[in-house]
Amino acid sequence: MGLHMQVIIALLLGIKRNGHIFIGLLLGVLVGFLFPQDAYPKVYNILNFIATAFIYVIQMVVLPLVISAIIIGISNIGDSKQLAKLGTKMLLYYGIITVIAVCIASFVAIALHPGLNAQSLVNPDVIQNVQGRVSDAIQYQRENLVQIFLDLIPRNPFEALSNGKMIPIIIFVTIFSVALTRAGEISRPLVALFESIFAATMKVTDWIMYLAAPGIFALTATSVASFGVSVFNDISKYAAAITLALAIQFFVVYPLMLKVFSKVPVGKLYAAISEAIMVAFGTASSSATLPLTITCCEKRGISNRVCSFVLPLGATLNMDGTAIVQTIAVIFLAQMYGIDLTPLLIFEIAFLAIIASSTSAGIPGAGLITIALVLNGIGLTPQQLVVGFSLLFTIERFVDMLRTICNVTSDAVVAAIIADNENEINYELLCGQTVENKA
Ligand code: ASP
Repeated sequence: MGLHMQVIIALLLGIKRNGHIFIGLLLGVLVGFLFPQDAYPKVYNILNFIATAFIYVIQMVVLPLVISAIIIGISNIGDSKQLAKLGTKMLLYYGIITVIAVCIASFVAIALHPGLNAQSLVNPDVIQNVQGRVSDAIQYQRENLVQIFLDLIPRNPFEALSNGKMIPIIIFVTIFSVALTRAGEISRPLVALFESIFAATMKVTDWIMYLAAPGIFALTATSVASFGVSVFNDISKYAAAITLALAIQFFVVYPLMLKVFSKVPVGKLYAAISEAIMVAFGTASSSATLPLTITCCEKRGISNRVCSFVLPLGATLNMDGTAIVQTIAVIFLAQMYGIDLTPLLIFEIAFLAIIASSTSAGIPGAGLITIALVLNGIGLTPQQLVVGFSLLFTIERFVDMLRTICNVTSDAVVAAIIADNENEINYELLCGQTVENKA
C-alpha cells in the first residue's frame, strides 16, 4: 500500500477513535458558515468566549510542562556525550525536514505562479483593516538579524517567563538542566520536584482534553465565521499553492522520512497522533498542542526520555509548515510586484524562511509577523507591504491552521525517528506487535 494511503487510513482510524473531536470540528465549520460574524455578532461573541477560554486553559499548562519536560528530558539523558549525540540528531532531522519543506515550497510557488495578476484583487477595506498589523511587522523588519539573535539570549529569565517568550526560556532551561546533571547527586531533589510537576501537568492535560470537542467546535466556528468563504475565490491560487505544498510535506515527506530513517510504521504513528493533529488544526498553536502531542506519543510507546527532550524543543524551533508558508507567501509577493525571481533570490528567500520560521513562537499568527524578516531580503517597500499583506491576511487563519498541522506532525515524526534509532520505542504499544530489527 502506498505511504500516503497508509496516512489517510491512519487518519480515518484516528478520526473514528476521536470521533467527538472530529464532530466538533465539522459542526464548527457548519455553524461558522451559517452564522457569519457580520450578520450574527452575538453568536460570534459567545463562540469566541468558549474558544478563548479553551485556548487559555490549554496555555495554562504549557510553561510548567515545557520547563519540567526539558529538565527531566536532559537529566534522563544523563552524560554529556549522550546529550550531544541526541541534540545533534535532533537538530539534524529538524534541519533536513525544514530544508525539504522550503525546496518543495519554492518549486510549488514557481510552478503555480500564484502571484500573477494578484494585485488587481486588492480590496481597499481589507487594506485599512490590516494597517495596524502591518506596521507591527514593518517595525519587526527594521530590527536587523543581529538584534533578533541577541533577543534570544535570556538576559532576564524571569522576564522571559512572565512574557511567555519561549525561545529564551528554552535556552535558559536547557543550560540550567545541563548544569543540574553536571552538579550530580545534589541536584536530585530538584529534578524529582520537576518530575512531580511534569506528572501533574500531564494529568491536568488529560482533564483538559474532556473539553476538546466543545473547544475545537468553538475555535473552528469562530475562524470560519470571521473569514467567510468568499475570500477563497480571490486568492485561490495562493491558497492552492500553500495547501499543495503542505500536503506534499504531510503525505509524502514525513512518511518517507519515517521509512528511510526508521522502522516506525507510518500508519501507526499517524493514528497515534491523530488527536494532536486535530487539536493543532483547531488551535493553530504548536505550543498549545504540545501537552497533547507528548501524551499521544508517550501513550503509544515513544519513551519519555525522547519525548520530553525532542517535543518541547520542536514545538518552539521546528516550524517547517511555517517555513513553507513564508516561502510561498514571499514568492507570491515577489511575483505580484514583478520582482525578478532569480535562482539566487529564491535561495535567499528559502534560507531566510528557515531562520524566520524557527524564530516564530508556536502561537497563532506568529509566522506572518516573522515573515517580515524574509521580505526584507527581497527589498519590498513598506507601501508595497500594505497591499501584499492585506491579501495574505485575508486567509491567514485558515493557512495558520493548516501549517500548524505540519509543525506539530513533524515534531512527532522526528521524535519517533530518534526514539527508533535509540531503541526507545515500545513497538508493542505502538502497533500491538513486535517489529523485527532492520537488517
Ligand atoms: N501557528 C503556528 C504554530 O503554532 C506558528 C505560525 O504562526 O506559523 O505552529
